[in-house]
Amino acid sequence: MSRFLNKKYRGLAAYEPGEQPQDKAYIKLNTNESPFPPSDGVLDALSRDAAARLNLYPDPECGELRSALAAQYGVRPENVFVSNGSDDILSFSFMAFCGGDTEVVFPDITYGFYKVYAEFYGAAYREIPLTEELAVRASDYYGLQKNIVLANPNAPTGLTISLKEVEEICRTNPDHIVLIDEAYVDFGGESSVRLTGRYENLITVMTYSKSRSLAGARLGFAIADEALIADLNRMKYSTNPYSINRLTLRAGTAAIRDQAYYDANCAKIAEIRERAKQELKRQGFFCTDSKSNFLFVKHPAASGETLYRELKENGILVRHFTKDRIKEFIRITVGTEAQMEALFAALRKILSEKTGGTR
Ligand code: PMP
Repeated sequence: MSRFLNKKYRGLAAYEPGEQPQDKAYIKLNTNESPFPPSDGVLDALSRDAAARLNLYPDPECGELRSALAAQYGVRPENVFVSNGSDDILSFSFMAFCGGDTEVVFPDITYGFYKVYAEFYGAAYREIPLTEELAVRASDYYGLQKNIVLANPNAPTGLTISLKEVEEICRTNPDHIVLIDEAYVDFGGESSVRLTGRYENLITVMTYSKSRSLAGARLGFAIADEALIADLNRMKYSTNPYSINRLTLRAGTAAIRDQAYYDANCAKIAEIRERAKQELKRQGFFCTDSKSNFLFVKHPAASGETLYRELKENGILVRHFTKDRIKEFIRITVGTEAQMEALFAALRKILSEKTGGTR
């Protein structure tokens, strides 16, 4: 830290992203990317001709992409906001709606960035514990009269709440924002987008990083009441109006035309996930009933830290969190069938070394 850093940032605990090692080829099951490449339409859109226009700024209104997303989700372009990954949209949302005298509430176990943003923007926050089963109890959020941020499916557990429960949270907190982070909704959740228009306090945030195979392009979007979208635009135009580059805009629009390819990938991932749950249970793991593109598992014979470390030694990266309540777990991104087979074999080997003495 330099002596020039603004005092208010000196105590900041920044978000720690999953490791992205550049040194050797791992089987990478640690940051919930899609194991499948972008669609042909996306690859074609990223042409030499498109790159040749990088001397020009992109459209700050992202008109074409917003219209395409609006058509896909049955809303108007005025209900759509796009930015540089959904992290960017979460950041704008905390910037716009939290802080002042309004507390923001989220679960104790959830996407780690919510707390980082709350602290960064000086917003008072409260964490509501998940149940013993690591589920969000929706009724804990009814009538709170606070801003509410929920990932649905939640991360890193993969567990969902129902659309009815989301609706009840919106209905009973009419004077506060309800932000539903649907980064993983395409793998088996119910989207709250269809409540847009009925609840002016609802913001649904989605991303191209998981189901649409574009984590490297950085693109996220929010769907909400027109007035909330105008607020998010106010944040964007006050910080970085050209937050999405030309190539990503083209890729994002092209991906919508290839929705069938992405739907098939999501179905494949959900299928591999369900089979992986069965295999891991056979190996003695406890698995949450994840509806996402990751598994959240623990084993009585090996700690989360050990599993993480030994898998890494075997060339497989998974995510381990050190927070007390979940430190026995690892989070495993659902990969291709071949990647999962390699994972099962490595786990079998690691676990047989642990339990070998008793057999
Ligand atoms: N929300 C959740 C729950 C996530 O897990 C992630 C991915 N780390 C994000 C948002 C951010 O995704 P991106 O910025 O790549 O859109």
